[in-house]
Amino acid sequence: MTDIFDPSDEFGPARIIQVREPSVGLRATVIIDNVALGPAIGGLRIASAGSTADGCRLARTMTLKSAAADLPHGGGVAMLHPAPGSPENACRQHRVRALACALRSEDQFIFAPDMGSGETAMAWIRDENGRAVGLPRELGGIALSRIGAAGWGLYHATEVALRYCGFKLEDARVVIQGFGTVGQNTARYLVENGAVVVGIADSGGTLHHPRGLDIAELVAIKAKGGSVVDSSEGERLAPDAAVDLDCDIWIPAAGSDVITPDNAARLKARLVVEAADASLAPAAERYLHEKGIICVPDFIANAGGLIGAAMECRGANKTQVLSAIKEKIRRNTEKVLQSVETDGTLPREAAVRLAMKPIVKAMSYRRWSGLSAD
Ligand code: NAD
Repeated sequence: MTDIFDPSDEFGPARIIQVREPSVGLRATVIIDNVALGPAIGGLRIASAGSTADGCRLARTMTLKSAAADLPHGGGVAMLHPAPGSPENACRQHRVRALACALRSEDQFIFAPDMGSGETAMAWIRDENGRAVGLPRELGGIALSRIGAAGWGLYHATEVALRYCGFKLEDARVVIQGFGTVGQNTARYLVENGAVVVGIADSGGTLHHPRGLDIAELVAIKAKGGSVVDSSEGERLAPDAAVDLDCDIWIPAAGSDVITPDNAARLKARLVVEAADASLAPAAERYLHEKGIICVPDFIANAGGLIGAAMECRGANKTQVLSAIKEKIRRNTEKVLQSVETDGTLPREAAVRLAMKPIVKAMSYRRWSGLSAD
């Protein structure tokens, strides 16, 4: 018999909640990983169904992200699985609202935007159970996706990492896989600071231009519901072709496990900055490390959205948020890569060591590790 507590360890998950509401086609899995530092913030992922094990990995990433950024929060994830037979978006609002209702008494879980969800979904959740961050301006939010909190942090992580790679951002060739909230803002900040984005992929395909793509034009196409390959400029390729493009920096900003041992050897970049959570399979990460390619781990590089969300609900303004993201992400990237340089450790191992310290300490003060403190 399979162990229902697999995968888990002494740090979590504290709770795995399956939610089903047939009247609106809702099937969701909510995972609360660790709450020693405070209530878990978890992204609402509305994407193709991931397994519970995938969810546990994403929830742990959020725990580590919060801890590394000194936030008084734990980590979690909410995965809203596609409703079989019902058209995508058909009753998306009903499903999100029903999920929020189901979690009304779960005071250790706060929803945040993630793949497939944004400010509007957070507003619906706030209306149903009061526990959501990343809200629209009218509800006290600071428009995290429009200011590009995650992208701003990714730009700073990239900038710091380049000191360890021996080349500069100016004229560096970048490929971005995934062109949603995170991919678009990352592209914008990198180009504003001298990089050249030569390839972008979304679920419709990959667009490639060795002299650089027009980010503003592609953002406008996406805003109208199109794909990057609808642009009249550049060469159109399959979505997966982004892995093969010649570049200096490769940024995964779509789903999980996009680089695996099967395709890692195809990457041409000298630096990988993980915008998407769990985008590198562990074996691929080790392979890239052994080849001398620096990989900045997800929970260090992409913490900007979470830092912004945690500060937003405590009344911080845009200037304070951008400054905190810059300071925390530059500091953590530097610490991790210094460790890698000194003792040759895998960046993720150095990052986990950094993040685990406050969690272990906080757990030592608690009677229960998984239960609410009240
Ligand atoms: P999003 O839904 O806004 O965008 C996802 C993008 O990925 C879309 O452009 C989609 O077309 C593309 N995509 C999907 N499948 C693809 C494929 N096979 N090949 C190429 N592109 C593909 O999502 P987002 O909010 O930008 O999040 C992207 C990633 O970043 C997720 O892994 C998320 O967990 C992570 N992340 C998000 C935030 C945030 O604040 N939204 C913060 C940190 C990390």
